[in-house]
Amino acid sequence: MSRHLQNHLLAGLDRATFAQIEPFLTTAHLSQGDVISETHATVQKMYFPHGGIISCVVELIGGGAIETGMIGNDGQFGAAAALDHKVSLNLVVMQIAGDVSVIEADRVRDLAQQHPSFRARLMAYEQFFVSQVQQTCACNAVHKVEPRTCKWILRMQKLVGDDLLLTQEFLAQMMGVRRTSVTQVAANMQREGMITYSRGRIHINDLDKIRAAACECDSAVNSHYARIIE
Ligand SMILES: [Zn+2]
Repeated sequence: MSRHLQNHLLAGLDRATFAQIEPFLTTAHLSQGDVISETHATVQKMYFPHGGIISCVVELIGGGAIETGMIGNDGQFGAAAALDHKVSLNLVVMQIAGDVSVIEADRVRDLAQQHPSFRARLMAYEQFFVSQVQQTCACNAVHKVEPRTCKWILRMQKLVGDDLLLTQEFLAQMMGVRRTSVTQVAANMQREGMITYSRGRIHINDLDKIRAAACECDSAVNSHYARIIE
């Protein structure tokens, strides 16, 4: 089986279309912190993760950066910009290391023109991504730190499994909250048996408990995905 089929968007293409696209895909490994695109850089390549998480981040003047969307093996980065010679509107970094399929933006334009089903699948994901960002916007404005943290962990668990290699400091930064708030929430969650954490690693012990404590935003995002893509 082609390694590229580890990405859900590529796996969902009909066989004939995938066969036309596959020769132009290469595989790469991206490490945590690798920058995929700087803010306002022209998008030269598109990425389809097999694992790991790509994070879209809004950088703020005076420091700080807040994550507005996560892309895993359910999605892609760069289609809308690649199709239209556009730039990335925010910073895009690898949040959790993983393998990706990569394709040149020029090639994406040609293939999308030749294969409407490929184009449709890319654009469906772009629509889903906007819905994810909108949900994050509402969540950040209204929901408290503990349910938000639970929501984040649910989303990450879905994309990479039960072991999350990331520090509380990073989590706090990405959520736009104080480090001490996340530390307190993580301590509560550990006491209640939801997670265990050590430096740089969170292990998920009880997904049902985390689900019960999370805000509705993760299930809202999942239901958008099911409607638009699956
Ligand atoms: Zn929420």
